[in-house]
Amino acid sequence: MQFVKSIKRVKRIVAAARRQRKTVGFVPTMGALHEGHLSLVRTACKKSDFVVVSIFVNPTQFEPHEDLRRYPRDLTKDLALLKNEGVDLVFAPSVRVLYPLDFKTRVTVHDLSSVLCGITRPHHFQGVTTIVLKLFNIVQPDIAVFGKKDYQQAVIIQRMVKDLNLDTRIVLGVIVREPDGLAMSSRNLHLSKHDRTNAVVLHQSLQWVKMAFKGGLTDTKKALQKMRRMIHNKGGKIDYIEAVDKNTLAPVKKLRKGTLLVVAVYFSSTRLIDNTVL
Ligand code: AMP
Repeated sequence: MQFVKSIKRVKRIVAAARRQRKTVGFVPTMGALHEGHLSLVRTACKKSDFVVVSIFVNPTQFEPHEDLRRYPRDLTKDLALLKNEGVDLVFAPSVRVLYPLDFKTRVTVHDLSSVLCGITRPHHFQGVTTIVLKLFNIVQPDIAVFGKKDYQQAVIIQRMVKDLNLDTRIVLGVIVREPDGLAMSSRNLHLSKHDRTNAVVLHQSLQWVKMAFKGGLTDTKKALQKMRRMIHNKGGKIDYIEAVDKNTLAPVKKLRKGTLLVVAVYFSSTRLIDNTVL
């Protein structure tokens, strides 16, 4: 496994793989890797001949009040995990490599970026699409694997790929969960023992609606009210709970097969997200 920090070297190494007629798979991450990330890496390994993983805590997707320095980092452990998966190339550039001081450009996917997480994090998705497009231009992957854990992000990236005629195929990986159901996230490391126990309610509330929907419930208001109550009872401070169309992210009045339920909840100062598709 090669580990590089420079754009030139990534381009050179990927070009060499291409000359050997290898297809290139790519998994962008912010590091502090867990089984969720590794499942995406495994998908990339299955679907392509040469696998690139990036590790970059992208400053432009953090809001000014969010503490970028608090984001967990463990490069040594990440590299060991990726080596074990058979990854070919890890790209972990510095901030100045990707954002020189005279950097001026932003990529925005309108509308989809300003709902749900975009309401309390108005700059977040612009930061995501800007860095993902930059990374796609550097790696030029045939496929790129993203997790359904960040469903809105996946929808926005798919839109960007279509709108900008990119040649990368987006593959989505399922949400990997802890044994009790909590969606794996690098941010779970910040939870106190108490909050960690309570946070499982996110998955439980989504499962409740899933079961109720199977039993005939279609009233969105009722479903969301029940979720709100369950989460509130466990001390979660709700950012949003919504039932939306999984392609347009527009709210739906009636639950249907394919409806996306999405939640964002604070436990103390840690913001967790989760979702499920009915
Ligand atoms: P991050 O490092 O948080 O930016 O995430 C990198 C990629 O891993 C994104 O495509 C996420 O959606 C994905 N991811 C994060 N957590 C999970 C999880 N629990 N299951 C599946 N994919 C995940």
